[in-house]
Amino acid sequence: MNVILFGAPGAGKGTYAKRLKEIYNIPHISTGDLLRNTVQNNPEIGKKLNAYMSVGKFVPDELVFEALKERLKEHDVKKGFLLDGFPRTITQAKMLEEVSKVDCVLNFDVDISVLMYRASWRRICHKCNAIYHLKTIVPKREGICDFCNGKLYQREDDKEEIVKKRQEDYRNQTAPLIEYYKTNNILYTINGNLDLSDPNQHIILDCQKILDSFKT
Ligand code: AMP
Repeated sequence: MNVILFGAPGAGKGTYAKRLKEIYNIPHISTGDLLRNTVQNNPEIGKKLNAYMSVGKFVPDELVFEALKERLKEHDVKKGFLLDGFPRTITQAKMLEEVSKVDCVLNFDVDISVLMYRASWRRICHKCNAIYHLKTIVPKREGICDFCNGKLYQREDDKEEIVKKRQEDYRNQTAPLIEYYKTNNILYTINGNLDLSDPNQHIILDCQKILDSFKT
């Protein structure tokens, strides 16, 4: 089952992916995480990537796609994937189609005010990439990851001015993919305005209703 998790920055793609990968036992592939890992582990390419990422700009297609293609060759992807952060443009959607089929696109639809609120309080674990929100998904110890004791940090691109720019890029360059996937009949839209810490996990249940029909 090959799934794209789609939505604006802050829509909750990464948070839901972490729950869905447990349910369906397929890997969560985030191009943002792949690129951030390269920045940490490969200073030479990392410097180049960081010039885009630290100011919230799209990394050039070839660089992102190269990282994604390598990841898609790994064994665990045979059962499928939950792809998060790719494609961000129609060009990228076509690149993906050359190497993989896509069964379903889950589009998390979230109001702009909610998106801004989420991004400004989001914190990430340096070590395991776990996602927190200082108002709704609060770590047990301030600044420390519940899972691995890693230090939490605010992404450079979650700062207000950069968030605004990323939302604008989403509207102009990424949102047209909604029509693209609608036309391909694989788009499923979910109301993503509910709180990410929603104890009843309504959004996860909504995802399951859709994804269960693609299970092999
Ligand atoms: P994300 O974690 O998905 O919010 O991505 C963080 C940053 O990584 C983005 O702001 C971009 O600089 C870069 N990035 C991730 N995925 C892509 C992509 N598909 N195309 C271009 N840049 C990307």
